Amino acid sequence: MLDSLQDGLRSAFKTLRGQGRLTESNMREGLKMVENALLEADVSYSVVKDFMKDVSDKAVGQDVLKSLKPEQQLVGIVQQALIDILGGDSDPALHLKPDVTVLMMCGLQGAGKTTTCGKLARLIGQEGKKALLVAADLQRPAAVQQLHIVGESVNTQVYSEEGASDPIAVCQNAVKHARDNGIDVVILDTAGRLAIDEELMNQLKTIDLKVQPDQVYLVVDGMTGQDAVNSAKAFNDALELDGVMMTKLDGDARGGALLSVKHVTGVPIKFIGVSEHMDGLEPFHPDRMASRILG
Ligand code: GDP
Repeated sequence: MLDSLQDGLRSAFKTLRGQGRLTESNMREGLKMVENALLEADVSYSVVKDFMKDVSDKAVGQDVLKSLKPEQQLVGIVQQALIDILGGDSDPALHLKPDVTVLMMCGLQGAGKTTTCGKLARLIGQEGKKALLVAADLQRPAAVQQLHIVGESVNTQVYSEEGASDPIAVCQNAVKHARDNGIDVVILDTAGRLAIDEELMNQLKTIDLKVQPDQVYLVVDGMTGQDAVNSAKAFNDALELDGVMMTKLDGDARGGALLSVKHVTGVPIKFIGVSEHMDGLEPFHPDRMASRILG
């Protein structure tokens, strides 16, 4: 995961290896390399700028600690800056209500929304709760069938209505079904499109308004870099997202979207997809991810 970013940062820290103390000039060289590693990972320019300012301020202001070598000092500073940029102490818990909690899942086609709905249902099931997957993507006939296959693979009931054409009614009926049947968490698998358009956004806004989900999540493809950040911005403007679930970080994602999305949109990442299999969803903890990036 994020191999080239890891390599870039490692090389930056290496420039300080063997140096007796952190000075302006050796630090400048190390920082330049950190900056390059971030830019090469396709991190948003505004994020890189703010990140570097944060790191430089901390590095310049820091007393040279006798116990730490310059390399270790810079690693520590970059680690803290990474944690901050990734969301600080943002918490991935779903905060389920005592009765029914409704989660609305949105995303562009192919981002991994339906797969992520299944993965989430599996995690909820593992916590001893009962999830219900709701087929609210009525744009593609195959989507309903796909959700049934996913539901079966994670042992979760799927709510769908044969021949339905109104996704709002399907969601409302599903929530009622959940209340009547002791379901804890309703997961709405809404329609996606290849690109953001007004019709899609209006449909999602209407579901949001009429069904009043407790939490709204956007699934974005971590491999798509800045496009993922831009779609998070657009969906958040329309829907006020509670969080982002970023998929496909097991592939050759460079990390740009992962490092940019919270800082650019204000929306925290809550879960990450790390495999196409149903067990490939992890709660996202900024501090653990920062440690992972720094290897
Ligand atoms: P949707 O159109 O947004 O509902 O997308 P799907 O759930 O159908 O997923 C699109 C493709 O991405 C499928 O082939 C999934 O197996 C794959 N996929 C989804 N999440 C991940 C992930 O975290 N890692 C990998 N490698 N593949 C994923």
